Amino acid sequence: MSDNNVEKLVIIGSGPAGWTAAIYAARANLDPLVFAGRPKTVPSTVLPGGQLMMTTEVENYPGFPEGVTGPRLMAHFEQQAVRFGTRIVTDNGLHPDVSNPDDGHSYSFHDCQRVDLSQRPFVVVGEDDAQYLAHAVIIATGATANWLGLENEQRLARLGGGVSACAVCDGALPIFRDQVLAVVGGGDSAVEEATYLTKFAAKVCMIHRRDQLRASKIMAERALSNPKIEVLWNKIPIDVLGDQRITGVRLKDTKTAEVSDLSVGGLFLAIGHTPATAFLGDQLALDAKGYIKLKDPYRSTTSVEGVFAAGDVVDSVYRQAITAAGMGCKAALDAERWLAEQGVH
Ligand SMILES: Cc1cc2nc3c(=O)[nH]c(=O)nc-3n(C[C@H](O)[C@H](O)[C@H](O)COP(=O)(O)OP(=O)(O)OC[C@H]3O[C@@H](n4cnc5c(N)ncnc54)[C@H](O)[C@@H]3O)c2cc1C
Repeated sequence: MSDNNVEKLVIIGSGPAGWTAAIYAARANLDPLVFAGRPKTVPSTVLPGGQLMMTTEVENYPGFPEGVTGPRLMAHFEQQAVRFGTRIVTDNGLHPDVSNPDDGHSYSFHDCQRVDLSQRPFVVVGEDDAQYLAHAVIIATGATANWLGLENEQRLARLGGGVSACAVCDGALPIFRDQVLAVVGGGDSAVEEATYLTKFAAKVCMIHRRDQLRASKIMAERALSNPKIEVLWNKIPIDVLGDQRITGVRLKDTKTAEVSDLSVGGLFLAIGHTPATAFLGDQLALDAKGYIKLKDPYRSTTSVEGVFAAGDVVDSVYRQAITAAGMGCKAALDAERWLAEQGVH
């Protein structure tokens, strides 16, 4: 904290972007205060540690040649941030504890309910209307992959049982090799994910609820001309089959209501993401899908001076832990320089 009970920097979000921003800010003596977020009802990836808490093996985060589980990786991020003095808003006050990656926390982290960016210092409102004043704010609240909301889909996703919302992240895992895989969706992302999966899969079935793809013409043609991709038109998944591992998907025809089972060794959801920006109201410029608009695409500056943003909350394209962490670093450096210009050290 700087003076008059005003925090130098509040960071909202505790995924790769938020914790990386905290590591850089803490090492720069900005004494950052983090709102790590309270877990929401399933299906959701809004939880402390962010989206990687939903996954088992992370094989593409540099520095872990044997791979690492998502929760363990995020515990390492948190420990590193806390080691340099990051404070976290919890039920027990501001916590400096380092969590044990295997035991988890004995207390709950708090959400940021809303912010008032119209006045200086900024007002960040936590749970029970607790107010925190801040000279600068970094928003790193990420995005939630959209799921179908089926019980077995969530259970198998958490088990690492072959259900995923990220083909680039998980497609190369051995469990998916030479399998028949299903991709749900019909937009550009779904085509991209399906095309990517054809590198490993025996065959990819795109499950689409309409009779034509929503993807752009060029992307749709790419899918339709790929001999390894078959589109199952007018179908929606109504259940995911399998105990410890997915064995199939139960489909319903949107025109005839006929129910059929498709045997698959993996299911990938590609039905979009929802950025966690609702708590901002209309105080920051957002794009049509609700992602925070950066003032300069190479920086982390937003439409409000002193407010910076990083990670999946600004990025609908790359959506990877390493890119989010890189953006968190940029946001902390931008915040540090901006604070120095304001005379806050
Ligand atoms: C199933 C799955 C598997 C994946 N596997 C990989 C992989 O193997 N490799 C890879 O590189 N990427 C993977 N990804 C993508 C990766 O997880 C994301 O790109 C990355 O987590 C984005 O980081 P972030 O910090 O921007 O946001 P998130 O990880 O989304 O974190 C956002 C944080 O903000 C918090 N938050 C949200 N709202 C509030 C609020 N109002 N107040 C306080 N806190 C709030 C949340 O609790 C959370 O801590 C995977 C994603 C999914 C869904």
